[in-house]
Amino acid sequence: MNRQSTSPSTSRVALQLGLLALVITGGFVVACYLWLVRREFFVDRLVLMLIVLTPIPFIVLATRIWPAQPDQRIFSKGLWQDLLYFFAMGAFDAIAIAWFSGLLYSFYDNFLGFLTIMSVAVWPIAARLALSLFVTDFLNWLHHYVRHKVALFWKFHTVHHSQTEMNVFTDLRYHFLEYVIAKLIIFIPAYMLQLEPLTAFGIAIVIRWHTMGYHANLRSNYGPLRYIFVTPQSHRIHHSHQIEHSDKNFGVVFSIWDRLFGTQHPDSKSYPDTGIDDQTFPLEQRTAATSVLTNLIAQTIYPLRVIFYPASTSSTKSPGDEQAPATQSRTA
Ligand SMILES: [Zn+2]
Ligand SMILES: [Zn+2]
Repeated sequence: MNRQSTSPSTSRVALQLGLLALVITGGFVVACYLWLVRREFFVDRLVLMLIVLTPIPFIVLATRIWPAQPDQRIFSKGLWQDLLYFFAMGAFDAIAIAWFSGLLYSFYDNFLGFLTIMSVAVWPIAARLALSLFVTDFLNWLHHYVRHKVALFWKFHTVHHSQTEMNVFTDLRYHFLEYVIAKLIIFIPAYMLQLEPLTAFGIAIVIRWHTMGYHANLRSNYGPLRYIFVTPQSHRIHHSHQIEHSDKNFGVVFSIWDRLFGTQHPDSKSYPDTGIDDQTFPLEQRTAATSVLTNLIAQTIYPLRVIFYPASTSSTKSPGDEQAPATQSRTA
């Protein structure tokens, strides 16, 4: 084989190495700052991250016993890409959200303060937790529904749906802007119900365990619990690239919203292939880029490219588009 013809150009490799060095140096500087100046903050976030990661070995073990796709390897296609997204979004959660929570609260206080339930102080903690979980989940369902139905938002959500071999880390494969908006939305119920930060973090961690579980390559519909919760089977239908599964199963924790609003797909048995058919999306399995970092940058730029330079892409149908040609594949 002519090695020279398949290798990326020297300038591209240099650019990739430069970007990688920049990110590693930046991460190292931030880590040193946190360790030296804000050691307590750093240790707290590290502990939270480790708690979030705790169930992963058990979920991976379960996928070896009951795989949705038996041919899928542990080191599946796009796994490293998902891993980068997972830690990038996790780092954002751990650092930025905590730092900006004061700013968010003052925004809430000024513009949304009327939503605060003043009598909540006398409520039992279980009632506050349950209500917070339901309100958060409904807002997440609504936000997810909008991301599929509004063509502009779908371009950003494409990143999440592009994975063809779903795994536990696909859970945080999100476009950065989409992730920030989703995070801002879930602050509202926490402030409405005056939840302590630790309680809100506790809820967030339990939700994360659940969502990591149903993104894994796991063959389960949780039996009768599927009538209440989102399952690996129902979420696989959501990620399916088959047109008949389009725009169904938007739930994040509970499946009750989809059942209530008629968006639950009746299939509770099959485990279809996942991904999108949009050939213009810079999917890591298809592009010539050799590093997960350059892929992440290309995928982050992708929706902006589609919006501002539509001529540079084609066949980027949104599932919200009503009249799709019969020959056009689903992109969700
Ligand atoms: Zn979706
Ligand atoms: Zn998903």
